[in-house]
Amino acid sequence: MKELVEAIRNQGVGIGDDIVKVDMFLNHRLDTELVVKMGEAFAAEFADTKPDLVLTVEASGIAAALTTAMALGNLPVVFAKKSQTRNVTGEVYQSSAFSFTHGVENHIRVSKAYLPQGLRVLIIDDFLANGAAASGLCDIVRQSGGTVCGIGVCVEKCFQPGRHVLESMGYKVVALAQVEGIDQGRLVVKD
Ligand code: 5GP
Repeated sequence: MKELVEAIRNQGVGIGDDIVKVDMFLNHRLDTELVVKMGEAFAAEFADTKPDLVLTVEASGIAAALTTAMALGNLPVVFAKKSQTRNVTGEVYQSSAFSFTHGVENHIRVSKAYLPQGLRVLIIDDFLANGAAASGLCDIVRQSGGTVCGIGVCVEKCFQPGRHVLESMGYKVVALAQVEGIDQGRLVVKD
């Protein structure tokens, strides 16, 4: 997606050799126009898969999941929670995902009350690195007896194996922008 590629080139920063910082428009400050366009782009890619619901993981997947769900006709959005809170009561679907940015194993949970059995579920997240977060979400959909319509990520880091991991499980993966590498803090983004 041209606008996202430009935003990454103009406002993104590489940290070390594997972290992409896009706090200016996606992970801290939100560029609302851009996030709406991302939602429209995901909707165009996945409308024919007829999702019933959009699933993401807190916190930074929520904005793009919301605009995608709105562009698909105001579908519900469910976001998996990373911490055990007293708010999540009753029965839950649970999986685990090693957090690339935080270096810890996150247990992700979705209350069974909000993910009814047998739905068609579109997974949206901000980044794809090793595929752990998306794999954990797919596992939760499987536990609910649902079907994964596909996986949409705003930014794919092509130098990490996430796409390979997810595609080898049979999932369709759509990335709106692809970062090929980091060269002394400068992000190398595919056209
Ligand atoms: P994965 O689970 O595919 O290894 O990593 C994806 C998750 O980790 C995303 O939910 C995202 O929040 C976070 N993440 C992974 N790499 C990056 C990165 O380079 N920058 C940012 N901002 N988040 C990342």
